[in-house]
Order: sequence, then C-alpha cells, then structure tokens
Amino acid sequence: MSRKIAILPGDGIGLEIIAEAEKMLQCLQHDFGLDVETETAAIGGAGFDQFGHPLPESTLALCRQSDAILFGSIGGPQYDSLDRELRPERGLLGLRSSLELFSNLRPAMLYPQLASASSLKPEIVSGLDIMIVRELTGGIYFGQPRGIRDLENGERQGFNTLVYAEHEIERIARSAFDIAMLRNRKLCSVDKANVLEVSELWREVVTAVGRDYADVELSHMYVDNAAMQLVRAPKQFDVMVTGNMFGDILSDTAAMLTGSIGMLPSASLDKNGKGMYEPIHGSAPDIAGKSIANPLATLLSVAMMLRYSLAQPELANMIDTAVGNVLNQGFRTADIAAGGNAVSTVEMGDAVVAALRAQI
Ligand code: NAD
Repeated sequence: MSRKIAILPGDGIGLEIIAEAEKMLQCLQHDFGLDVETETAAIGGAGFDQFGHPLPESTLALCRQSDAILFGSIGGPQYDSLDRELRPERGLLGLRSSLELFSNLRPAMLYPQLASASSLKPEIVSGLDIMIVRELTGGIYFGQPRGIRDLENGERQGFNTLVYAEHEIERIARSAFDIAMLRNRKLCSVDKANVLEVSELWREVVTAVGRDYADVELSHMYVDNAAMQLVRAPKQFDVMVTGNMFGDILSDTAAMLTGSIGMLPSASLDKNGKGMYEPIHGSAPDIAGKSIANPLATLLSVAMMLRYSLAQPELANMIDTAVGNVLNQGFRTADIAAGGNAVSTVEMGDAVVAALRAQI
C-alpha cells in the first residue's frame, strides 16, 4: 500500500536541502521500488507569505492525512517583526502540538571521517552513535501554574511547574524502549530522582514499563552525572530517555560533540509512529540561496523516516551507508571541509544518490 509523505520545505536553505531529499526519494521510488506518494505544502514564512499564516489550514490537513512529514527549516530576518502568533516558529510548534508529536528523537552520530570536527579528542568521539529520546509536549515547559507574581514584600517571583502524569511517562518510556529494541538494546533513563518527586515517579514508571522489555538493559542516571558522562565518555550510551527540559539541554550537548550542525537529523513521533523528520539546524539565512548548505542532515532525516514511520529499515541502512561512502570518497560541503575543497549542495546530493545506486 502506498504511503503518503507531506513535504514542507519552509524557508531559507530549507528549499535547497529539501530539493536534494526529493531527488533521493525519486531515486528510491524508481530504482528501489519504494512505494510512496509525496505532496508539498507551505509552512513558516512561506506559509505566511502565501496564506497569511505560518501553519495554513491546508498544510495541517495534509500533515494529518500523511504517514510522515519531511520538514526543511523555517525562519528569516524578514519575519522577525511579525506578531508572535504569525512568526514562522509558530508553524513548527503548532504542528508538533496539533499532531501530538511527544517523542523527540535526537541522534548524535559522528562519522569517523569527521572526528576532527569535534571539540573533543577524536578517540573519545570517533564513531559516536547515541540516540536521545526527549519528551516534547509536557514537563516544565508546559506545566501550570506558571508566571511572574508580586510578593507581599514587594519583590516579584517567577515560577514554573514541573509535572508529569503517569501516562505521559509511560508513553515516552515505551517509545524509547521500542527504539532501543531497534538498536543495541541499552536504555539509560535520565532524571533527578534524588531531589524531585516528579523524577521519583518517572523512575518508577520507566522501571515498570521495562518489565515488558526483558531484552533491553535499563539503567538510570541523575541528569548532572549524565551531562558529565556525555562529555567524558559519550560512547558508553546507546539510547537515553529523559523529560523535556533535561532533554533540551542534553540533546544540544550531544549534538555539539559531533561538531557539525549540518549532519544531524531528528524525528518527532506520535503514539502510532507517525512522525515529522527534520534536520536540527535552522534556515541559515546567512548562506541561503548560495547552494553551499550541507544537505546530509536532511538526507539522514529521510533515513530516519524510512526506519521509524515507513518500516523500511534496509533502505534506511542503505542511505546511512551511502552517506558514509561519500564521506570516504572525500565529498565535503563547506561546513565540514575544514578549509579544504568543498562541493555544492547539489553536488553532495548527487554524490549520495550515486552512492545509493552503487548498492543495487
Ligand atoms: P541556523 O541553524 O539556521 O544557523 C546557525 C549556523 O549554522 C549558521 O552559520 C548557518 O550558516 C550554519 N548552518 C546551519 N545549517 C547548515 C547547513 N545545513 N549547512 C551548512 N551550514 C549550516 O540557526 P540561526 O542562525 O540561529 O537561525 C536562523 C533562522 O532559523 C532563525 O530565523 C531561527 O528562528 C530559525 N531556526 C529554525 C529552526 C527550524 O526550522 N527547526 C531551528 C533553529 C532556528
């Protein structure tokens, strides 16, 4: 049965990197028999320009009907003075909440060929392959009450609430265990159970869910130690699962271990495995239109889409292999060229397509 992919290029380099992903998808359709149909829609600044809203009704309707969403990037200086509700970011946040994409998958992978791009010693990070699963729609970023209030002594007090209900913990834990089953079956749950009651409950529920996954080795770690271990010996981790705020910080730390923002894909899944797939970087207005953006994060996002929403793990592995092969062949866009010869966005996309075809 044909599966449907909504394609949302967005703004800035989003258009250029998504064009390479479409080229690769066409290759997968024609040469590898991938049975998908695609439809493109506007989001972010492009949504505002065409329909007066960053998340047009027609775009949301298309995303609801689709099995997966491929997202480029949104934003640009020309939209910065718009009302908050009309800014491009609202398109992305609106999509995440409307589709209940609560499970955010942030891999931190470092191809050995790029080990020198990291700020850590190559032997510590070479071959790094961690998956951080972050709860995306709950926790302190959404908890009520929140605000800034006046105290009796005349000073102001800011407050937020860190809350997780059992069902929210259970569903993110299941999502993480399912992902661990597709990888090396090691899951580390990160919390602050020595100080926070919400973390005590988190640990209890994650442990209970773990009884359904006897093949996965579960461990628990306090967030402060996890931050330390990520920069001391990151290769000890396979899959990590944590709440919204801890995940926000740890996933960016892990991303920086790899040193190259143009290489990192991500996914946000709902409870049925429907997902939105996107590079972690933004619309890069400083390089938009120059065909120098690195398309690999987006091509690797397609690989995640094939693995997590479209049940095509072999094709996903072939894309990962193709990316490794083009790096071995010496292809580098400017961001990872370390001052050496750089290829264009289109040349990098062509090289990956050729490396895919070479695996037939
Ligand atoms: P950015 O990620 O767009 O760019 C940061 C730096 O990384 C820039 O120097 C850029 O040239 C470089 N870069 C990013 N992606 C690259 C790629 N694929 N290849 C080569 N170099 C790349 O972050 P920013 O500059 O802080 O934000 C620019 C705009 O993007 C803003 O409007 C921001 O709101 C938006 N943004 C969007 C998303 C998203 O769409 N998910 C995420 C972050 C920022």
